[in-house]
Amino acid sequence: MDMESAYSVAEGIAVVTFQNPPVNSLSALQRRSLQDQLRHAAARDDVSAIILTGGARPFCGGAEIREFNTAAQLSSPTMPELIEGCDTLSKPLIAAIGGFAFGAGLELAMAMHYRIAGADAKLGLPEVTFGFLPGAGGTQRLPRLVPMEHAARMMLSGSPVDAATAHRQGLVDRLSDGDLFDDALSFARQLVAEGAPLRRTSQLRVRMDTAPADLFDQLRDDINKRYLSHKGKLHIVDCCVAATKLSFEEGRQFERARFLELLETPESKALRYNFFAERNAAKIADVSADVRPRNIRTAAIVGAGTMGAGIAVCFANAGIRVALIDASTEGLERGMSIIRGVFDADVVKGRISADERDRRLAFVAPTVSLPSAVSDVDLVVEAAFEQLDIKQQIFRELDRLAPPHAILATNTSMLDIDAIAAVTSRPQDVVGMHFFSPAHVMRLLEVVRCRMTSDEVLITVMQIARKLRKTAVMSRVCDGFIGNRMLQRYLQQALFLLDEGCTVEQIDSAMERFGMAMGPFAVGDLSGLDIGWSIRKRRYVERPDMMYSRVADRICEARRLGQKSGKGWYRYEQNSRKRISDPEAAAIVSAYRQEIGVPSRAVGEHEIVDRLMLALINEGALILQEGVAQRASDIDVVYATGYGFPVTRGGPMYYANTLGLDTVLTRIRQFQSGYQGGQWQPAELLVKLAQRGARFE
Ligand code: NAD
Repeated sequence: MDMESAYSVAEGIAVVTFQNPPVNSLSALQRRSLQDQLRHAAARDDVSAIILTGGARPFCGGAEIREFNTAAQLSSPTMPELIEGCDTLSKPLIAAIGGFAFGAGLELAMAMHYRIAGADAKLGLPEVTFGFLPGAGGTQRLPRLVPMEHAARMMLSGSPVDAATAHRQGLVDRLSDGDLFDDALSFARQLVAEGAPLRRTSQLRVRMDTAPADLFDQLRDDINKRYLSHKGKLHIVDCCVAATKLSFEEGRQFERARFLELLETPESKALRYNFFAERNAAKIADVSADVRPRNIRTAAIVGAGTMGAGIAVCFANAGIRVALIDASTEGLERGMSIIRGVFDADVVKGRISADERDRRLAFVAPTVSLPSAVSDVDLVVEAAFEQLDIKQQIFRELDRLAPPHAILATNTSMLDIDAIAAVTSRPQDVVGMHFFSPAHVMRLLEVVRCRMTSDEVLITVMQIARKLRKTAVMSRVCDGFIGNRMLQRYLQQALFLLDEGCTVEQIDSAMERFGMAMGPFAVGDLSGLDIGWSIRKRRYVERPDMMYSRVADRICEARRLGQKSGKGWYRYEQNSRKRISDPEAAAIVSAYRQEIGVPSRAVGEHEIVDRLMLALINEGALILQEGVAQRASDIDVVYATGYGFPVTRGGPMYYANTLGLDTVLTRIRQFQSGYQGGQWQPAELLVKLAQRGARFE
């Protein structure tokens, strides 16, 4: 049978195939043609069952996200019309799911009478990541097929399940371990031969049998604790409750009303913006499409510390052989034990099997010999101490030892990579790969394009980032690149606010209520206050034009370096990460206030949030103006994926656009008076855009 034909019949089984490459999304046109074909097939006398398949492509990627909030989204048949039409069709309908069925694609499959999936298929309802919910019956159908506790979690996480799980839980009736299409055909024939009933999901009972009695309360509590204004998640729980209380039809109407409401919320708009922002970040505007990436088969990491170990895990997870090099055997052992710890934890959490752990561990080859480790390597990532002379020395050696085709990358956080590249004879092969800690967890990778980095090297690193499952954003060289450069201004304001009378607790909780994953002081304690201390010491010399609060230095001088020393801005009980207010830290802050003679005043939460956010925004504007970032949305991706910025607010630049740039500018000007007023110089770009009534793009 011709898999490519949209509609064919053989031996009484009609086959309808999606025709919308690349992922068979349910655009308005696709919906119409599917509905026509399904109806025609059902009306034919010679058809006794119908298979819906993605053909050679994945089953279906879901709604066409580009049609959201457009007329096409509402054109007939709407998603619910198409999907409800399946449920009531008079011939057995079988979804043959290869590749994946996501979102509305899975909702459609759930409205069919039977489902068979390829062994490596993935099924998921990712709507929540865009701030809304499955709005074409999914919230009502899924808990009729799989137990409610799994259904709710699947919709709330947005993560797909694999075919085996889907089969075990009841979402698919059969697994195909051979040719999906052949297996679907024989499944269909069997159903016909047996006179199997039209199993309409809408008529099944909701599966509450194994759910804990307080399931919905638990879910709501968890959402309220962890996600700021995530209306999408809360509405999903409401729809699950509705499924248990209302008829299918009433439940569907309840769901549809919530769905339409969510489409219009600022949170869901921000989440959709983030989705496209991430996609765009991968595009380098000024590199020709003809540039081909190099082939990266093996890698080496220099420095087996916290970062080196985490980066090695990323490579091993991606199935790329990696040599891990350290100057000392102790350093190497420490690094390997970090790596083993990460994989062991994955085994304990059930993410990988013990065999898989061993396989991944075998991808990492520890050594103290740089020459042998890099003599035939395609990519080196340097993650040694953050000192220019040390890094330059390493790069001189790499220049001498690594093969000519190798890419030489550094994980430096703040150093001038052009100055590192300059000590080599091949600056075109030098690039920054700035991972975030913990490197195997954080999604962000800043790819730093140096003055001489070749297009080929840049493209290769952007591509490798994808293999490492990172979200790469390109930055030009500057002090701190995109993320840390902006963060300096944010932290600077947090310290000024302490000087002016705020407490550490007040600032942290204001920022957390705004939606930041953690307040600035809690973050400092977590990552270690000595990092910022050494950066500030350098800045006092390099940037005397900037104004500094020394209050953080006073904390460090009192040997309070954060969680690792049991105290920092807060104190911590042994083996606990729970922050506890510490009067000793407060006394240091207050003594510093007296020393500099800044009168304390009551600062409102609004001002705290504004000062920190506008500091980010203004520096972001400078970064755009200088061309350090390609586009405003790249900056937002950096903050959403690497700095705990609330995704429901898009990112700092998107947030600025929602405030209105004229408002941003007015507020910045208001801050120009007072103790730290000299620090506020609105970026030219901001002034220009505000005057034109334009936005950051
Ligand atoms: P670390 O001190 O934990 O590890 C550095 C390791 O490098 C040590 O094991 C040391 O023995 C080894 N080393 C030093 N000189 C070496 C040499 N010449 N040859 C081989 N090995 C050598 O440091 P870290 O926190 O992993 O940071 C490493 C780099 O990553 C720094 O440049 C840092 O700025 C950057 N970085 C750190 C973070 C973070 O949060 N820790 C985040 C992003 C980037």
